Amino acid sequence: MSRETILIDADDTLWENNVYFEQTIEEFLTLLEPFGYPRKYSRHILNETERRNIRQHGYGVRSFGRSLEETYMKLAGRAADRATLDNIQLRVNDLERTPPKVLEGVMETLDYLADRHRLILFTKGEAAEQAAKVERSGLQIHFDAIEIVPEKDVATYRVLVNRHHVVKSRGWMVGNSPHSDINPALEAGLNAVFIPHHATWELEHEEVRSGAGRLMILMRFSDLREHF
Ligand SMILES: [Mg+2]
Repeated sequence: MSRETILIDADDTLWENNVYFEQTIEEFLTLLEPFGYPRKYSRHILNETERRNIRQHGYGVRSFGRSLEETYMKLAGRAADRATLDNIQLRVNDLERTPPKVLEGVMETLDYLADRHRLILFTKGEAAEQAAKVERSGLQIHFDAIEIVPEKDVATYRVLVNRHHVVKSRGWMVGNSPHSDINPALEAGLNAVFIPHHATWELEHEEVRSGAGRLMILMRFSDLREHF
């Protein structure tokens, strides 16, 4: 294959991410059960609160912590107490400190790809938080550029394509999220590689739609070596 430009997502593509949030959410739902709320209902309220906070404050651990607090205040009502709020805050701090656990085969595969193609890490989230994760992952040496944006939509893909002079027919987006990685990239005219992750966040779920570019579906990150 000729030299391509490969944009690569980070959370749940290069390293585990959502599984840690899910653990925190499971504990949080347990905390709300004594108030008489079924887990499914509490989760629904949390998701709604997250959607609203993401619109106002963006992604990231801080925004997530705010959503947990607000959901707790809403559901516990007058029974809400300071100790539980502090406990929630502690868990959110733990989440922020968790070092990224790089997924199996990622290191070797990036090594292989970086020799042959131009790699750009493309992630969304709170800039400082994501930058810290990239640094702690030790993976940045493989990338020509690191791009962190508040939201990955068609507009941000177009900006990226222009900034890095990506020839669309030879540009790819690799990621686990139909909503942020695959659909907007295809719509922007890029090709895409969808690598599903079992713990993909509910807010990222979406049907994969066809677009101008080619779509490849792989089971593992290391499978990229057979195609690039
Ligand atoms: Mg991801």
